[in-house]
Amino acid sequence: MTIETLPAVDADRVTALTHELRDLLGAAAVSDETAALDRASIDGSEMSPVVKEQLPLGRAQLVVTPTTAEEIALAVGAATRHGVPITPRGKGTGNYGQAIPMAGGLVLDMSKARTIVEIGDGYATADAGATLIAIEQAANKTGQQLLMFPSTVQSTIGGFVSGGSGGTGSIKHGMLHQGYVTALDVVHATPDAALVHVEGTDTEPYLHNYGTTGIIARVTVALEPQQAWQAFYASFEDFHDAFALVRSLVELDPIPRLVSADVPTIADALPSDTALPPGRASLRAILDPTTVVEATRLVEAAGGTVEAVREGIQPTMKVSMTSYNHPIEWLQKAATETYFHVEVSGDALIDRVDEVQQVYPGAMLHLEGQRGRPIGMLTAPYTGADDVWSGFTRLTALGVGFHNPHQWFVDYMPERSRELAATTDPNGLLNPGKLVEPTVVTGGK
Ligand SMILES: Cc1cc2nc3c(=O)[nH]c(=O)nc-3n(C[C@H](O)[C@H](O)[C@H](O)COP(=O)(O)OP(=O)(O)OC[C@H]3O[C@@H](n4cnc5c(N)ncnc54)[C@H](O)[C@@H]3O)c2cc1C
Repeated sequence: MTIETLPAVDADRVTALTHELRDLLGAAAVSDETAALDRASIDGSEMSPVVKEQLPLGRAQLVVTPTTAEEIALAVGAATRHGVPITPRGKGTGNYGQAIPMAGGLVLDMSKARTIVEIGDGYATADAGATLIAIEQAANKTGQQLLMFPSTVQSTIGGFVSGGSGGTGSIKHGMLHQGYVTALDVVHATPDAALVHVEGTDTEPYLHNYGTTGIIARVTVALEPQQAWQAFYASFEDFHDAFALVRSLVELDPIPRLVSADVPTIADALPSDTALPPGRASLRAILDPTTVVEATRLVEAAGGTVEAVREGIQPTMKVSMTSYNHPIEWLQKAATETYFHVEVSGDALIDRVDEVQQVYPGAMLHLEGQRGRPIGMLTAPYTGADDVWSGFTRLTALGVGFHNPHQWFVDYMPERSRELAATTDPNGLLNPGKLVEPTVVTGGK
């Protein structure tokens, strides 16, 4: 796979934009200093050895840090008038280069536009740079909670709905395109850019496409009544028993917020904890307290040991932060070899796990419980991109759905995004390089 490098923007246009942004937002909000440009030119893509081999993908020429949704609109309008590409950025934790400014130009750093505008009955409205943990804590003060958040709980709501997919809460609520967002204020790349309010299904074409159809300035998400969640840890001699139990635990009622399981090698790479005894498979869950007795019975019947049950937001957040991609990141930090991963799904992850782990030499599975169709991250030592692609056929033969995460372009309903962007971004200034024809092997879950 070769990533096409896009030409940077003519320096005179960037200089003219710098002056205008300083007038509009103040000098402190605009930076062309090397350290700021360096920080704005990389995201979490080092997690993919396939993408890492090809870094740098692009370099910011200017960074602007608006502090409100209205300032976001001002910045987008100015950049559009000067014909300068705009790459939005939350916390930059996205994995595969989606926040890298491939055509240079302006990086729109949202991290200071973080006002939580309103917590209402059943909803929260926040500017794009508000973190998921801040919104969850604000919701908790009103006896409510987010439906879902990623394991990167310090990431931004704008970045999550633009680049993420699911996480803690997904067992009950599915993925973020399934009713998570109820309204958006978006900004189109037009010279007179302003906040455009969209609600309900009209929000969908702006989600999970890296800001290519519009910059998300403000987000309203649904809330539900708060539950007194408990962090639940169990360990097993044989990881097959832990994996099989995931299927039973997701059927508990009330539905768990999260159920994750790991083989011993991955569990040993997680941050040290008395609830993670070395050399044993780990099962971690966030449970409604009324289900802990039944979960304990199920663990013991399956030959496991309950290691800890902990109350409070910090212990449950800690369980969240060892879910989804996080165990792979911890493994990458602990291992001397370089590991890649592929997102996988289907019953075969439990029923045929030994065969699934044979798809790549040395492969291991991290499992996430879902009702109906478990999902997971299959990780293995990296021996080259062609070897990664060659496993896709073998996964398909086993009935495993997969998603290739080593790609930076919009692969979720790209035609719909292209159709909307034709009017909302007529000059192709929004996150250039992402709304393109796929050039690598891809697959669908
Ligand atoms: C270890 C690890 C674990 C992770 N776990 C999860 C997980 O559990 N679930 C999950 O879904 N993801 C996960 N991710 C991916 C990522 O962390 C999340 O999706 C996160 O919510 C992204 O938020 P961010 O603020 O870092 O966004 P960024 O990385 O800054 O941006 C993500 C994408 O959205 C665009 N964007 C950012 N802000 C806006 C905006 N306001 N308007 C329009 N476009 C915008 C960016 O250009 C980029 O394309 C994980 C990543 C890592 C490295």
